[in-house]
Amino acid sequence: MDYVYAPGKNHLFVPGPVNIPDPVIRAMNRNNEDYRSPAVPALTKVLLEDIKKIFKTTSGTPFLIPTTGTGAWESALTNTLSPGDRIVSFLIGQFSLLWIDQQQRLKFNVDVIESDWGQGANLDVLADKLAEDKSHTIRAICIVHNETATGVTNDLAAVRKLLDDYRHPALLLVDGVSSICALDFRMDEWGIDVSLTGSQKALSMPTGMGIVCASPKALEASKTAKSVKVFFDWNDYLKFYKLGTYWPYTPSIQLLYGLRAALDLIFEEGLDNVIRRHGRLGKATRLAVEAWGLKNCTQKEEWFSDTVTAVVVPPYIDSSEIVRRAWKRYNLSLGLGLNKVAGKVFRIGHLGNLNELQLLGCLSGVEMVLKDVGYPVKLGSGVAAAAAFLQNNTPLIPSRI
Ligand code: PLP
Repeated sequence: MDYVYAPGKNHLFVPGPVNIPDPVIRAMNRNNEDYRSPAVPALTKVLLEDIKKIFKTTSGTPFLIPTTGTGAWESALTNTLSPGDRIVSFLIGQFSLLWIDQQQRLKFNVDVIESDWGQGANLDVLADKLAEDKSHTIRAICIVHNETATGVTNDLAAVRKLLDDYRHPALLLVDGVSSICALDFRMDEWGIDVSLTGSQKALSMPTGMGIVCASPKALEASKTAKSVKVFFDWNDYLKFYKLGTYWPYTPSIQLLYGLRAALDLIFEEGLDNVIRRHGRLGKATRLAVEAWGLKNCTQKEEWFSDTVTAVVVPPYIDSSEIVRRAWKRYNLSLGLGLNKVAGKVFRIGHLGNLNELQLLGCLSGVEMVLKDVGYPVKLGSGVAAAAAFLQNNTPLIPSRI
């Protein structure tokens, strides 16, 4: 029963937490188990192998941590760096801002490269900093792959190329919270040293599992990193990996079975098909926004995000009112504008276990709310633009061919 009941299904279009598919819900509906029995280590061993596929890594070492994206950030930073280390971090929206705040509170020397909200990471400034840094004082580059607050996707291959061009040894730490399992992400190919995500985003699970993956170089760095960590210490995990028991503390049995089911669904569809599906849903959403005569917060096409679209409303409308009414009147959950863009944008999350018709339902709800708040939208205009695109571009469902 919903805490505040409404008939029918809630249309959950916030950019995380996202819809949990029924097989994942069913897989988690189970009793606790003795995690010291042979069953849980056997399940964990296979999960640790399989999870590498979503990062596109063969050489990485994954950690399944009972935490959220925020804890995964902390795990990445404290295991690889020491207080006072210089890191370069891009500020482009609310989540990069929060990560920078964490970096500063952990006492790193953070060199912030700021862009307007709606723009991507300024790589020209990074190039200048790398060029100047002949003595390699920069220990790490921290970047949010997909800034969920503004719907901006950064070009990680370009960051790697700059590091290579300047032969700079800095670690590359990447927040993939709203990208991994939805957007093209290649940990090995792009030379990412730590990648991280949270279970409630594109994996379509409940919140509560932070997934961090470390390259051999990051593991090497962890041997000398002096930041204080206890709960997040990779060494504790590695010790238990060696023993074959896997867990330094009690794992959430239900989340492990949920992860198994979530990965099974992703592999059945095919990770590349999952990424293509996000590409279609992102494009269809942007076509609808255009048809409504509204602007995308993301300022250039090269940064458009296929997991979240932040829609700018005219100055005479408060975007929070759109989000409020959508929930109160149509049982549609949209994302609020955060911090600098509060009241100015609302967000449509299109990530995770979602299909074309669900998206069209959301878009039609958005149109009705826009009309409710006095924006002169033609009902059906965005839906028609999105449907025309989807009708031309949606392939047969892979398992039903
Ligand atoms: N990074 C990004 C890009 C996010 O979108 C979020 C949450 O939305 C976080 C980090 C923080 O994750 P959590 O809320 O799971 O701690």
